[in-house]
Amino acid sequence: MAGEPQADCLFCKIVAGSIPATVVGETETTLAFRDINPQAPTHVLVIPRVHYPDAASLAAAEPAVAADVLAEAGRIAAEEKIDGHGYRIVFNTGAGAGQTVFHAHAHLIGGRGLQWPPG
Ligand code: C5P
Repeated sequence: MAGEPQADCLFCKIVAGSIPATVVGETETTLAFRDINPQAPTHVLVIPRVHYPDAASLAAAEPAVAADVLAEAGRIAAEEKIDGHGYRIVFNTGAGAGQTVFHAHAHLIGGRGLQWPPG
């Protein structure tokens, strides 16, 4: 059921602590950890503790938690001191857009110049 932990979900396992991650932020509703394959000097994933397959379904069902994800991304950007030069918050949505883990997550990317449009 949406919102419930999924046995086959990698990020649910990170939330549960059964798969390790380098955690940089925890709130009641979110978890933030460094991406295992960083694409920039700062590359942090901010995820809701609850399971939804993508950001839009999270926002539709639990808008306050979606807002928590964004607020936590902003807090970490300031903590990492990447906010001065600008940073990006990305929600890949769907396999065609590069989503590989179907548990909603924000990529917080910064610490280098970023091109637009992304590939
Ligand atoms: O947007 P997408 O679904 O592709 O993002 C998933 C991200 O999760 C990837 O950037 C990948 O490097 C990261 N990941 C991770 N730790 C894992 C498995 C994947 O940080 N154990």
